[in-house]
Amino acid sequence: MPATKGYGTPNAQSPLAPVSFSRREPGPTEIAIQTLYCGVCHSDLHMARNEWGNAVYPMVPGHEIVGRVTAVGTASNRFKVGDIAAVGVIVDSCRHCAPCNRGEEHYCDHGATLTYADKDRVDGSITMGGYSSSYVVDERFAHTVPANLDLAGVAPLLCAGITTYSPLRHWKVGPGMKVGIVGLGGLGHMALKFAHSFGAHVVQFTTSLSKKADAMRLGADDVVLSTDAAAMKAQAKSFDFILDTASASHSYDLYLQLLKQDATMALVGLPGKPASIEVGNLIFRRAALSGSMIGGMPETQQMLDYCGQKNIVADVEVIPIQKINEAFERLLRQEVKYRFVIDMSSLT
Ligand code: NAP
Ligand code: ZN
Ligand code: ZN
Repeated sequence: MPATKGYGTPNAQSPLAPVSFSRREPGPTEIAIQTLYCGVCHSDLHMARNEWGNAVYPMVPGHEIVGRVTAVGTASNRFKVGDIAAVGVIVDSCRHCAPCNRGEEHYCDHGATLTYADKDRVDGSITMGGYSSSYVVDERFAHTVPANLDLAGVAPLLCAGITTYSPLRHWKVGPGMKVGIVGLGGLGHMALKFAHSFGAHVVQFTTSLSKKADAMRLGADDVVLSTDAAAMKAQAKSFDFILDTASASHSYDLYLQLLKQDATMALVGLPGKPASIEVGNLIFRRAALSGSMIGGMPETQQMLDYCGQKNIVADVEVIPIQKINEAFERLLRQEVKYRFVIDMSSLT
């Protein structure tokens, strides 16, 4: 297969810069895709700068991939050359443990293989992500894309979409429930769209008052500035479920106090530092604090099909790959509205 071009980094301190490397020819059940769009997840920034301490270099980030199939393995039957295929955060798993058999490959007992900066189960190399011209993946870990959806807007569904869809489904968010979403970024705006679409009464919490009108347009019934103590107090003990998508360290107690008795707050945002909580906020209301990671392959496909039926995509700012370092800085300034997506044709 021809050399693959991409943007990557040799260490945690350097900006992303052009790199080239090679990918294998697709094996029997694999497909090769030409990358068309790749979303820019805050996890890419956490990983590139080794904020979680598990980075492997050289690193080519990117796990919100939409592309066109250019080759299919001899035993693959889900895709044909020319189809659109999408790839998310994981590209392999053991495929035989209980979570894998349930279609929850992301919770694989032996560890799922990440789309980048992980050890490839097939050839032992370091996986290289979607900020690149091509990808090779087993068809079990690729998804079909509804034909009616804008492809740039689809890319973020592969991480931001499934990471919010899955917990909202797991905790059965729907009509009659009051649901809070913390943080209006890439994940947050998808959580807002899904919770609204599932019929819940949705309150968006934000630190950026300037996002209020957007939050209402995206489906919020109410918007609360989380730095406004009186406005927060007015929401006390009223929520059935809260999904926290914030990327930086902040107080979880602020939100635990807003839960009703027996309600749950689930975390999907993963700041780089450990947190502490006031345990009384759980005990006094038998409240639950939980977490959730992306979603399995069947649920990811279900989410994409749901988006096709409801015409849901991410709100995106399409950028050329040459602007990726600037995009990372704008992510840190909470300026993204609401997901950067790289147009991969800018690579050539
Ligand atoms: P993003 O687009 O940068 O959005 C993060 C949002 O968090 C910001 O827009 C901001 O919202 C809020 N925020 C930032 N700093 C804050 C602070 N100090 N206090 C309170 N709120 C703050 O990031 P993203 O791509 O949505 O990712 C969000 C987090 O989820 C990241 O940590 C990422 O690594 C993680 N993640 C987890 C999974 C998973 O499987 N669990 C999957 C993907 C991503 P406002 O401006 O509205 O306040
Ligand atoms: Zn992600
Ligand atoms: Zn497994």
